[in-house]
Amino acid sequence: MALIVKKFGGSSVADATKIKKVAQIINNRVNEGNKVVVVVSAQGNTTDELIALAREVNPKPSAREMDMLLATGEQISIALLAMALDAINIPVISLTGPQVGIVTDTEHTKARIKGIETSRIDKELNENKVVIVAGFQGRDDQNEIYTLGRGGSDTTAVALAAALKADICEIYTDVDGIYTCDPRVVPEASKLAEITYDEMLELASLGAKVLHPRAVELAKLYKVPLCVRSSFINKEGTFVVENLEKEIVVTGVAYDLNVAKIGLFDVPDQPGIASKIFNTLAKAKVNVDMIVQSAMRNNLNDIAFTIPRSDLDTALELMKKTGEAMKVSDVVFDDKVAKVSIVGAGMISSPGVAAKMFDVLANEGINLEMISTSEIKVSCIIKEEDAIKATQVLHKAFELDKI
Ligand code: ADP
Ligand code: ASP
Ligand code: MG
Repeated sequence: MALIVKKFGGSSVADATKIKKVAQIINNRVNEGNKVVVVVSAQGNTTDELIALAREVNPKPSAREMDMLLATGEQISIALLAMALDAINIPVISLTGPQVGIVTDTEHTKARIKGIETSRIDKELNENKVVIVAGFQGRDDQNEIYTLGRGGSDTTAVALAAALKADICEIYTDVDGIYTCDPRVVPEASKLAEITYDEMLELASLGAKVLHPRAVELAKLYKVPLCVRSSFINKEGTFVVENLEKEIVVTGVAYDLNVAKIGLFDVPDQPGIASKIFNTLAKAKVNVDMIVQSAMRNNLNDIAFTIPRSDLDTALELMKKTGEAMKVSDVVFDDKVAKVSIVGAGMISSPGVAAKMFDVLANEGINLEMISTSEIKVSCIIKEEDAIKATQVLHKAFELDKI
């Protein structure tokens, strides 16, 4: 008997027929004698629709009320799935994140799980029930509701698997595994049998939304056996593992459109200036990604950096104030940029990978506005309109269709 955590994404529970199909998948596992905990996302595009509705009534809704609203999406799914299991005589109970005792920090709309109380789930499992948990949500110690950021149900599943010491965490979605690139953008992308936690963490952080980055981080930290597979076809998925026998130089390509660039011109060249700029952003919980400082001239520098586009309004307002205090000549922004990245654990020992990437993009006439590298990735900021083309040509140039 195994303890299995299964997570079903929004497309897997989009309508009544799909919910019944998910109930059958769970039924099979229960009949094999396993204990099953299930995490579900909001149905289909529910979260997007709720966000649009909120903006109709208030263009700048408060983060707290957004959490109150968005958490309802997952509550609909858990109740419906519990009803579907009950209809086929499987003992079941649905629980919201707060009911389970998923305790988060206090960052509305992008909270992080701090701990999980497992006593309620343990009790229900001991009564031989399937436990259905709402993904993407938790509470703080004051019973305030928080959500975990878009795609956060994956993180609920991995965190539960870690807390319950589950034998496996299976992420069911609308693709049958992790591919060398989003198969919707590159149809000839190859399905990977396995990928390392480190590579998957990079791909997820760089825009491959098949897994939430924090989910991969937790899986690596707590050594949770993790796999991604299809809700619709019964096929072996992709396993996320510690190491691979043979390292691949480039494993995947990802692109991210949730990027904006801010530039401050003629910033005084003095100690403490960068610290002031980036501490201001950090205090507002704006995640800064790439930073470029130009060569100094006349004791002045230009500083440019990228942030999530979703944080642009907040960051721009702060930078205008900070820039004014520092007497910079201008604060500019560009919200039509994108990031394209290649990832691979074998890059460390294979020189020339970055140069090849720059060559490929140059041959397409694509201008590189910023570059950043780590041991296992190279990322470039380019114009948003070039993102898809760049992704496709890089995939081809590194022969990822032949993996
Ligand atoms: P869910 O609602 O099940 O969480 P998501 O839409 O969040 O599903 O994630 C699945 C989607 O991720 C796929 O439909 C696919 O378009 C996209 N995707 C992006 N990069 C990859 C990749 N490298 N491999 C597989 N899918 C990817
Ligand atoms: N429903 C949330 C979203 O759409 C969480 C998730 O699906 O993982 O982002
Ligand atoms: Mg997802």
